[in-house]
Order: sequence, then structure tokens, then C-alpha cells
Amino acid sequence: MSHFSYRNGVLHAEQVSLSALAGQYATPLYVYSKQALIENFSAYADACRENGRGAEGFDPALVCYSVKSNSNLAVLNTLAALGSGFDIVSGGELLRVIAAGGDPRKVIFSGVGKGRDEMRLALSHDILCFNVESIPELHRLNQVAAEAGRRARVSLRVNPNVDAKTHPYISTGLKENKFGVAYEDALDCYRTAAALPNIEVVGIDCHIGSQLLDDAPLLEALEKIIELVDRLAAENIVLHHLDIGGGIGIIYDDEMPVAVGDYLGRLFARVHAWREEKHQGRPIKVMFEPGRSIVGNAGVLVTEVQYLKHGAEKNFAVVDAAMNDLMRPALYEAYHGVQQVQQQHGSAAKTYDVVGPVCESGDWLARGRTLALEQGDLLAIMSAGAYGMTMASNYNTRPRAAEVIVDGDKVHLVRERESAAGLFALESIIP
Ligand SMILES: *Cc1c(COP(=O)(O)O)cnc(C)c1O
Repeated sequence: MSHFSYRNGVLHAEQVSLSALAGQYATPLYVYSKQALIENFSAYADACRENGRGAEGFDPALVCYSVKSNSNLAVLNTLAALGSGFDIVSGGELLRVIAAGGDPRKVIFSGVGKGRDEMRLALSHDILCFNVESIPELHRLNQVAAEAGRRARVSLRVNPNVDAKTHPYISTGLKENKFGVAYEDALDCYRTAAALPNIEVVGIDCHIGSQLLDDAPLLEALEKIIELVDRLAAENIVLHHLDIGGGIGIIYDDEMPVAVGDYLGRLFARVHAWREEKHQGRPIKVMFEPGRSIVGNAGVLVTEVQYLKHGAEKNFAVVDAAMNDLMRPALYEAYHGVQQVQQQHGSAAKTYDVVGPVCESGDWLARGRTLALEQGDLLAIMSAGAYGMTMASNYNTRPRAAEVIVDGDKVHLVRERESAAGLFALESIIP
């Protein structure tokens, strides 16, 4: 997390001290680095530019940032300005993309449970593609498109039955998962889709899981996708894009994820060789849906130590952030690094569990960390940019944290802290 580093013993986001930010905006506080966002997106965009092979008037690749990983308008707007497309999973996310200045014509819509209203909304904004996950969804989309007097562009999400070798909760490409259509059924689904009058078949997609450290499962999925594209072409169902999904992992602890540029280099090389061999070199657009690898290490959660509890078995640092702010540890036993905002300290180091105020034993953020702490100290929960704020809840009537983006020495408050009164403003008592 090179944009979060110590200067004069104080952890900074770019050029701004986290302790100054905590003083101004209070804690818990999400802090993002704009430069980190730009660099992480550029790793994809540059590799697409270097490796993609287009043709006259043909864009060889599109990166569709996965909105659910971090959907703050300022994050979306920053990425839109870099030319990003967006992968959404709800109508609400589409409205966010539009509010943030994103181009709906670069939006793809994933998810197993799209509602009629969401389909209507997406059609009215002429989104690039629906990533359809089942036959009943295909029929519903055909019907909704007919009522709207439109044709819906679709890609089928195929489940390549590849083991992503990641946490079971974030593995999505195996037969037992709820996502996509089974590989064996894909041809039939495409035949059905091709015969529907208000459906236009344009692509194929998959997404096998998240936090993948190795690209081998992704390249294995690509082989299966290629095979399907060829079989479809033999039946005159010609696809214009293939979308390999997201899923590249980041460093939370001591992981060694594949570099985005290396993965894309290998992937494009295989795609080009295949197109030369089987399709007279005709290009196919390649799409990606990265989330975590763009925002994960672009954000931290700053929290203040409220109390230190020294017990016989364990020491607890009770902080003001909790599982409602960052659910990943409670949900997946996920590891997040914890750094002291003020590096130098007189007090002796001890082993702590860092826990929140929520009334659940699962409410912990980190376990067994060696820290030298005093009440009132600030901690940064690292790598919290992805699936942090977007998964936050109001459990225990806790207002969600504020969010700021640092850009060099400038700070932008991009989401105000919620108020407790706001949390029950939609409720009423029985008259
Ligand atoms: C969540 C999701 C992604 C993003 O995954 P990351 O691991 O964050 O890159 C991409 N595509 C789909 C369909 C998703 O559900």
C-alpha cells in the first residue's frame, strides 16, 4: 500500500496525516488514496492498450469496474474519468454510476436475481449488456424488452466448473455455486437466447471467484470459454465479446498475487493465438470485471482505541470501528493488517485482539496482533478499500462512517457521517 506510508512517525495517506484526518472528521473514518485508485486502474488499462489488438473502429478491451466493491460516487467518478466501464449487480448501482457521470453504454449488469424494474431501468439507459444467469431470466428479459420496444444485448454467464482455490464464500465458478448456467447447458441456453426476438446475443462471460492469487484457474476458464465460442460459431451464433470476470487478489498479509500486467499479457497472448488459428485473426473484444484489485489497497479504516482490557487469557483493544463498519473479518475470518497511526510509543507491546463495540462475539477486526497501545491511540485497518463501506450496516443503530479521498495534499469529504436520527427517520410509531 505504497500510498499509505509513515512520515515523521505518522501514517499518511499520500501527503495527509491520518491523525489530522481523524481530528477533523472523527472516527471511524474510511480514507482512500486517489493516486492508488488511478494506478490500480491503469495497471488494467495499460495492459489492455499494450496487448489488445483492435481493428479499424474496434476497441479491443473494456475494463468494467465492479461497483459493489466500493460504490462511492467519487470513486466511480474517478474511474469514469479514466474511461472505465462498470459491472453492476442492481438497479441502484446503475443509478449510482449515472449520478457519478459514468457512461451507461459501458455498463454490464450481472446478478442471479434481476427484477423487472431493474431490467426496465437498464433498458431505458441502453446499457451495454445483460450478463444473464439462467433460462427463466432470459425469458423475463425478452418479455420486458418486448414491452419496452427494445432488444436487450445479452451475454450468458457460464459456469466453467473451475476451482478458483479461494475461500468458499468467494468462490463462484464451481458446479455447486448458485451463479451462472452450467457449462453442459450453455449451448442449449444460447440456442434458446438466439431464438428469442427481443434478445440479441453478443457475448459470453464468467466470474470464477475472488481474491485469486494465481491466474492459472482464470486461464483454465478461458480455455473452456474459447471452446464454447467455437462451438457456437459453428452454429452461426457469433459472439463479439468475451468477459473473463474479475477476481485478482491483493496483498492483505503475505500473499503473493499475480501481477495484473502479467496475467493480462498471458490472457491476450492466448486470445490472439486462438483468433489467428480459428477465426482468420478476427479480433474479439475482451472484457474484465475487477473490483478488489482496483480499490482494496486504495483504502484504510481509521479507528480510535476506546479501552484496553487486559485479561487472564487475552488482551483486548476495544476500538470505535466494528463489524458493521468492516464485516470481512466476521464474515470470512478475513485478515486485515493493523498499523498504529503514531509509530513511536512509550508503552510496552502486547498481543491484542482488536474488537468493536457491537454486541456479538464475532465482532472482531483483527486477532493476536502485537501492538504497543494506549487508550486514545489511532489504528489504521489496512486494505479496507474493497467490500468495506459497501458491506457496512447500521447494526446496533451505529451510523455508518464518513469517507474521505486524499489527492496529494488535498482532502475531499466524499460521504458525510450518518446521524443516528437519520437511521430511524423512515420509521414511525403506531398511532
Ligand atoms: C463481485 C464480482 C466481481 C468483482 O470481483 P473482485 O474479486 O472484487 O475483482 C466481478 N464480477 C462479478 C459478477 C462479481 O459478482
